[in-house]
Amino acid sequence: MVFILTPDAPEARVSEFIKAWEDRGFSTILSKGTVHSAVCLIGDTKEVDLDHVVETTDIVSYGKRVTEPYKAVNRTVHPEDTIVKIGDWSIGQGTFTVIAGPCSVEGKEQLLDVARAVKASGARLLRGGAFKPRTSPYAFQGMKEEGLALLKMARAETGLPVVSEIMNQTQAELFEDIDVVQIGARNMQNFDLLKVVGQMKKPVLLKRGLSSTLEELMMSAEYIMSSGNPNVILCERGIRTFETATRNTLDLSAVVVLKQKTHLPVVVDPSHGTGIRSLVAPMSKAALAVGADGLIVEVHNDPAKALSDGAQSLDPGQFDGLMGELRARAAIEQRRI
Ligand code: PEP
Ligand code: MN
Repeated sequence: MVFILTPDAPEARVSEFIKAWEDRGFSTILSKGTVHSAVCLIGDTKEVDLDHVVETTDIVSYGKRVTEPYKAVNRTVHPEDTIVKIGDWSIGQGTFTVIAGPCSVEGKEQLLDVARAVKASGARLLRGGAFKPRTSPYAFQGMKEEGLALLKMARAETGLPVVSEIMNQTQAELFEDIDVVQIGARNMQNFDLLKVVGQMKKPVLLKRGLSSTLEELMMSAEYIMSSGNPNVILCERGIRTFETATRNTLDLSAVVVLKQKTHLPVVVDPSHGTGIRSLVAPMSKAALAVGADGLIVEVHNDPAKALSDGAQSLDPGQFDGLMGELRARAAIEQRRI
């Protein structure tokens, strides 16, 4: 059950209202909006007389029953779009944010080359994996701490905030100075890790699991938000289907469903979503068209020699061409890119 508060509800009254419910054994989520805030009750609300609460509480403007199991991420609980701030840039309403960089950080030259190129083409954030989840234990596992240090160096040089994947909860300290932590597809339901990034208070890019339903993705976002972190960005990165022509099946309808059901920004990963370089640009334009809030795209200075995911990586020239096409389309929609 959620109570949408009046715009002028004084903080002290809101705290009293919350405390009264908690004294009755409910957990609560206070969701702050720019105009309306909302208090969501978690627990068995069958016996609560919704109309009576609305009529007798002056700070409540209306109430609704929330039947979905996800509450904090639910658009019913928080009707306005969440905007995730990263430095002076906002991911969400009115922008189309392109995150770009190599699958893996491979070395100083490689990372700086790519970082300078994607910055010049208009990317807003730099991606780069330092800890890599690989199917084979014999494949390149990432540069680890050294990779994170190189990302910070590339940030200092280009000014681009950095995104990197955290693989387990023992790494939280290492990621303190990383701007956005990524939860990879394979960790989407690592609930202990979700709770830890929920306490990190920094933006989290949460990728959809390889075989996860959208409800499962939303429940994973719920773990992060209910642990105290409202800065969650959802990412559709393709799912397992019977189709073998592409590495994964990029589910673009997921973008629309997630934006209807949640208030969180949604970005698309056309690189892992297809696994094929020539499909990256068309699916990126499609992502913009269906209302995604941005992209995370793999770019390598020499894709043929990449230590991971070369076949789906754009080279800097291809990325620049894509950015030009996206800029033209974003301008039509009056979205900042
Ligand atoms: C990645 O972003 O390089 C990655 C491993 O992604 P995913 O978790 O979506 O496979
Ligand atoms: Mn990759």
